[in-house]
Amino acid sequence: MPRFNCKDIGMSCGWSKESKDLDELLNEIQRHASEAHGIKEFTPELIEKVKSAIRM
Ligand SMILES: [Zn+2]
Repeated sequence: MPRFNCKDIGMSCGWSKESKDLDELLNEIQRHASEAHGIKEFTPELIEKVKSAIRM
């Protein structure tokens, strides 16, 4: 299952998430980024960074 650790993109944050569906995981990550880190805009650059940090 794809898994994402927030600290893998350089955040000092212990949040991690696992989901069976990659798109669902990306949605969860966007929500977390917005709520916990105030990141309102997911730029293509940031999405690439997030995707490269996801462990399949
Ligand atoms: Zn985080």
